[in-house]
Amino acid sequence: MPLRESIYTIPINDLFSEKCGCPLCRAAAIAEKRISDFILGPAMMEPDIRMETNRLGFCKEHLSFLANHKNRLSLALMLQSRIKEINEEANAKPKALNAKLGHCFICEKLEIAEKKNAESIVRTFSENRDFRELFSEAEGLCFPHYAALLSAADKAGGKAKKEFQKAALTLFKKKSDKIESDIDGFCAMFDYRNNTEGNDFGELKNAVENASSFLSADCKEF
Ligand SMILES: [Zn+2]
Ligand SMILES: [Zn+2]
Repeated sequence: MPLRESIYTIPINDLFSEKCGCPLCRAAAIAEKRISDFILGPAMMEPDIRMETNRLGFCKEHLSFLANHKNRLSLALMLQSRIKEINEEANAKPKALNAKLGHCFICEKLEIAEKKNAESIVRTFSENRDFRELFSEAEGLCFPHYAALLSAADKAGGKAKKEFQKAALTLFKKKSDKIESDIDGFCAMFDYRNNTEGNDFGELKNAVENASSFLSADCKEF
């Protein structure tokens, strides 16, 4: 049972029908959950998936993500076979061990999904006028996903490219200006000249988390 694309790519209209947060961050969160459910569930004993997870392993973030999954035995079995493979290689070809580090099965699939989603957004935008309106109604785009859409638009070219770039920039600015003014406001709260000591941070209390999410494609506003 190979990991079908449909598991980790999401129909574009569904992605944009929810208005909250960055649509591509939402896609990544959905895909991350689906991939984990798949590899710890129905695909747990699938030799081709196991071969890939043995070879690539998982990054620190995704190991803790998997560790919070209800299916602990599946994770234990995957880790068991990866450790066995690492130990076999340590005996047979110790110099080749480095190749087994620095990868992540889930990150790799998410990268593929992000590219496909970005291409599909650009294509749908150029082919479907109704979608342009839906696109412009999104709450905003985080920085890495704005960049991903621009590079997909560059690759696709075509007549709608300029219009797409303009619409994507508008979405990016919807978020980036607010992020800047919130982080300005947050920093100003620490300036004694503003007499803010003891004041409530109010809306600004999440300014640091929001700026970090915006800069690292980790938007959790959904
Ligand atoms: Zn995003
Ligand atoms: Zn990862």
